[in-house]
Amino acid sequence: MAKKTETGNAAVSQLSAQQKKYYDVLMRIREQVVRQMEFHSSEALVNNHNAGEKGMSTHMADLGSDNFLHDMELAMITQETDVLETIDESIERLVQGEGYGACQDCGCDIGHDRLMVKPYAKFCVKCKSIREKNGGMRPDFN
Ligand SMILES: [Zn+2]
Repeated sequence: MAKKTETGNAAVSQLSAQQKKYYDVLMRIREQVVRQMEFHSSEALVNNHNAGEKGMSTHMADLGSDNFLHDMELAMITQETDVLETIDESIERLVQGEGYGACQDCGCDIGHDRLMVKPYAKFCVKCKSIREKNGGMRPDFN
């Protein structure tokens, strides 16, 4: 069976058509991220343990590239794990009716267009860019 979040199907059937659309996009992206993670973790393992067995990589191992590749894959897996957590949080908020689609900093609507592109967005474009300038800190509204 496919991996499921803890949220039951009963709650999902309560969603409005609009919310169902976000839910579908979230689940689709979630699946992509899970698949990417599986790909990267198998790649990372292959590069870690069979460095000499893959034709080109013997030569590349001499240059230290395999380690570089391995580190890069681990970094991507870490990033993907973060995204997956954020996606799961978003699904949870959507299904439980806990303010999905509202910016967690200023409370305004993140907006349909942005949500269709990035359905797990937690912040509106404005707060997101403030956070980027602040090094990830919450904007100061005072
Ligand atoms: Zn905001």
